[in-house]
Amino acid sequence: MGNCCCCGGRSSPQAKHDIKPDIIRNPPDSQFIDNHFPKDQTPLSGGGVVGGGVGGRPDERYRPTPTKSRPIMVAMYNYEARDSQDVSFKKGDRMEVVDDSEGDWLKVVHLVTKERGYIPGNYVAAEQSVESEDWFFENISRKEAEKLLLSEDNPRGTFLVRPSEHNPNGYSLSVKDWEEYRGYHVKHYKIKPLDNGGFYISTNKTFDKLCDLVNAYTKNAYGLCHVLAKPCKKPQPPMWDLGPTYRDKWEINRDELILIRRLGRGNFGEVYYGKWKNNIEVAVKTLREGTMSTAAFLEEAAIMKKFRHKKLVALYGVCSEQEPIYIVQEYMSKGSLLDFLRKDDGKHLVFEDLIYIAFQVASGMEYLESKQLIHRDLAARNVLIGENNIAKICDFGLARVIEDNEYCPKQGSRFPVKWTAPEAIIYGKFSIKSDVWSYGILLMELFTYGQVPYPAMPGREVVDLVEKGYRMPKPTTHQVPDEIYQIMLNCWDANPEKRPTFEFLTHYFEGFNVTSEVPYREVPD
Ligand code: AMP
Repeated sequence: MGNCCCCGGRSSPQAKHDIKPDIIRNPPDSQFIDNHFPKDQTPLSGGGVVGGGVGGRPDERYRPTPTKSRPIMVAMYNYEARDSQDVSFKKGDRMEVVDDSEGDWLKVVHLVTKERGYIPGNYVAAEQSVESEDWFFENISRKEAEKLLLSEDNPRGTFLVRPSEHNPNGYSLSVKDWEEYRGYHVKHYKIKPLDNGGFYISTNKTFDKLCDLVNAYTKNAYGLCHVLAKPCKKPQPPMWDLGPTYRDKWEINRDELILIRRLGRGNFGEVYYGKWKNNIEVAVKTLREGTMSTAAFLEEAAIMKKFRHKKLVALYGVCSEQEPIYIVQEYMSKGSLLDFLRKDDGKHLVFEDLIYIAFQVASGMEYLESKQLIHRDLAARNVLIGENNIAKICDFGLARVIEDNEYCPKQGSRFPVKWTAPEAIIYGKFSIKSDVWSYGILLMELFTYGQVPYPAMPGREVVDLVEKGYRMPKPTTHQVPDEIYQIMLNCWDANPEKRPTFEFLTHYFEGFNVTSEVPYREVPD
């Protein structure tokens, strides 16, 4: 349990990096080592003369006294430095922020090792904030909470607290429980805010601070399904860059990469599993010479670099100065969703897992919808699977940012016809609504464990029949509930405007009730 003392309120996402400019401008404190410089040449800002102190430290006389304290961050995970600019730390280490102006990377001074350099901002939380509690999960949906808690390593009573999706000042408590008739499952409780700033689950037990409430329920269940036994383990957050040197450039040094084994074959070249600096796992997409223009290949990379979401595969960078060109991406250990569904691992997925994958893909697409980006090739082959059935959308080779609502490709473009909406095939009208159509086809692939859509029908026949109103029937070979089949049909509405939004689809699959469980438990007063 974290040693909380003032976590009564949630700080805004910006708040933890909210450092006043006058604090940032303070020159580096000379007692700390700056990773950018040899240890005996620590620079002194303001052109100060470096005095002859021990180890070449700047003369004390030239060091202005800091007037305000700088924010202290506490590490939520271990981190190994990846290049010459960053600082290693262990969970629980404290670091003082000296510059937060570089987005994902904070410049800090480690308060024990005295090293100065960059750290990934999403690996730390402001000291004494609610985000620094082991049990607090900031960006997590109900479905994701259930998935994490149900991991086999977690005993009954494992819990987490997350911001409420419905009440901006409230929270939800999710607890792993076990009952003889249904085995392990997760129960959710609302933590409601009081007008005076306190919190409660049941009105007869109110607390000034969220951590007081959590602490109390770790000692006594007070009507919960189980006493709060142990905070759920937090998964390592994604890294958007390979290291701090790549925070503002994306040309990767080819010599730092080794290609270890072939993962698959894309339209334009091979895809390899590899390592960066012999350490960080990556997937490397290569462009076979003469298959596609370098510019077009790099366009995919540019799109991926610009759009970031935890349900989109992260792009780390490119090697574009020599042939063959590489795109270096986050490695997803289980490969494409299509292959996964067809192989042993995927065959063991239960209905709840399929709903979880449907939710994740909708959530990634909801992000693209909000950014007005159309994917144009959404299909199970273009979703990648990682550990614990994490799903991320990839292959933005055909994606385009749209100015209007729709995009018309040049004549003669080739489409994956069984996945493409009729208005896109016939009139070339691609829109986020044609992506919704493709999502409906992906749902069918998912719930039939990777069956080819419109089995045994050639693409041309599919185009003709679909235009006349034909839709894939509900499969007889697999159990697809009526309500999910109805969602597919809605995605395949002839009128694009009548198709659901990805926002709706995300909420639909997030809230999908696999067990007819009540959404939130009440604790009797
Ligand atoms: P693509 O060129 O994107 O169609 O990729 C071809 C195949 O390579 C996919 O079907 C996957 O099996 C594999 N692959 C592509 N990207 C990755 C990645 N980031 N991580 C793991 N496997 C990948």
